[in-house]
Amino acid sequence: MKKIHFIETIVCVLMLSCVSAQKTASYYAAAEALPYVKNSRDTQLKQTDIVPLILSHFEDSERRPKALVINYDGCRIDLLPFLDAETSAVFSNASDGGFYLMFTGGEDGCLQNTRTAPGFTTQFTGKWALEEGGHGVFNNGLLKKDEPRTHFVRLAEKGYATAFHFLWGAYGSIFANDRRYAEKNGLPVEWNRCRPKGEARKNPDEALMREVIDRLSVEGEGEVDFLTCIFENTDLAGHHYGFSPDEERYREALLEIDGYARKIIETVKNRSTYASEDWLILISTDHGGRNLTHGAQSVYERTIWISSNRPL
Ligand SMILES: [Zn+2]
Repeated sequence: MKKIHFIETIVCVLMLSCVSAQKTASYYAAAEALPYVKNSRDTQLKQTDIVPLILSHFEDSERRPKALVINYDGCRIDLLPFLDAETSAVFSNASDGGFYLMFTGGEDGCLQNTRTAPGFTTQFTGKWALEEGGHGVFNNGLLKKDEPRTHFVRLAEKGYATAFHFLWGAYGSIFANDRRYAEKNGLPVEWNRCRPKGEARKNPDEALMREVIDRLSVEGEGEVDFLTCIFENTDLAGHHYGFSPDEERYREALLEIDGYARKIIETVKNRSTYASEDWLILISTDHGGRNLTHGAQSVYERTIWISSNRPL
């Protein structure tokens, strides 16, 4: 394990220095100019901040606390200017709270790769992979340790009904320990893997949206308190055509997913009990990308973002 850390550290340092200072500065400058932006390159939030803010929402709320987290897999921050500043899900949600620059990979860029399994495991546990007490998922293909537990399991231990909606089958094995723990203890956690059939296979993200909308439409008995979901088309388009705002298919994937997120948020706001509920709504991503991939520590891969309907 020590040797792996050493090699990864060398790779990290090399990758961090790969993008010129000028390009990094203009990348951040564009991010800092986004609508409702509340921080800067020097005050970026950390991906590990998401768990504490969700847990404190449930602890501090004076009404019935609820939370929804929608993720656009592999969505670079410089793709967001293509969204409508007023009507898009990302920015209309941020208009009620704020939009924030965030980073993944760890403070020094060496605590985990900028890949999907590490990114979401950090978003779900509030720890980096290789920090003291970390989750251990520094790359894809690894199993999360027993501790730290995911936020949906921790909330379920407090009696809240939680649901994770996803398409990628690997999440079943990454979080297998939590799944077994929840089942053994009879916790109200749902692992809702979407498996589209027939025509729906043409657009798995749309199928996922329908399942999320159905789940959030349940009121009263069986209703959910916390739901998180992951759309994948941005990441898929990035791998096929390039993680770049210059790639039309990458931009189209964002516009499509954002439309799905808008419908999901409308569903929440149309709940007959919405006024008596206290919804924290977040939209975020797991990592950025560069050329046809991601995993290293360039500014394009490390920089992520979060839209919140509450000031953070
Ligand atoms: Zn990817």
